Amino acid sequence: MAASLEDTLDGLLPQTQCTRCGYDGCRPYAEAMAAGLAGPDQCPPGGAGTVAALAALLGVGAGPVNPEYGAEAPPRVAVIDESICIGCAKCLPACPVDAIIGARRMLHTVVAGECNGCELCLAPCPVDCIEMVPAAPAPLALEAIRARSIHYRARHDAHRSREAGRDARRAAHLSARRPAGDAP
Ligand code: SF4
Ligand code: SF4
Ligand code: SF4
Repeated sequence: MAASLEDTLDGLLPQTQCTRCGYDGCRPYAEAMAAGLAGPDQCPPGGAGTVAALAALLGVGAGPVNPEYGAEAPPRVAVIDESICIGCAKCLPACPVDAIIGARRMLHTVVAGECNGCELCLAPCPVDCIEMVPAAPAPLALEAIRARSIHYRARHDAHRSREAGRDARRAAHLSARRPAGDAP
């Protein structure tokens, strides 16, 4: 079966799920482009190379990343200051690739090799102890972005699957505690 336009566009995106494009992740952005609702220049992590690939597929002109959405930049990774972390665990569900390890009331740490630099863990941290630090001196080449995207997509799929399992268990638990005859 031939891949849909959405699938092909999504396959060209970096899969950091950072939302800088203005959509709730790479797939929603791909769907918006396929529907003619978004242009190809809204993904800073993908850079100009990704804009060109998306534009070619859409049959529109290419250019640089639109600065309204951010700038193409060298990759960064998150680092947690463990002397400040209070172990609240609020950063854990925010990470789309489960790159943070820790448990409630324990110090948390970022697995640098798995962090994609999306920055989604920064806002939930109540004590601002997560900092972004450079991970490379220059923006990644398109081939490296593509190679990493395959890994990040697999990690994100696993993250969503774990979330869905947890939600189902929670719903089953609440349902079991509800008195018989109560409407959901
Ligand atoms: S990587 Fe690009 S397409 Fe994916 S969410 Fe971030 S800005 Fe949007
Ligand atoms: S650790 Fe933070 S910056 Fe790194 S991938 Fe997870 S949420 Fe994104
Ligand atoms: S949100 Fe901040 S304080 Fe809470 S566990 Fe994560 S890094 Fe530590």
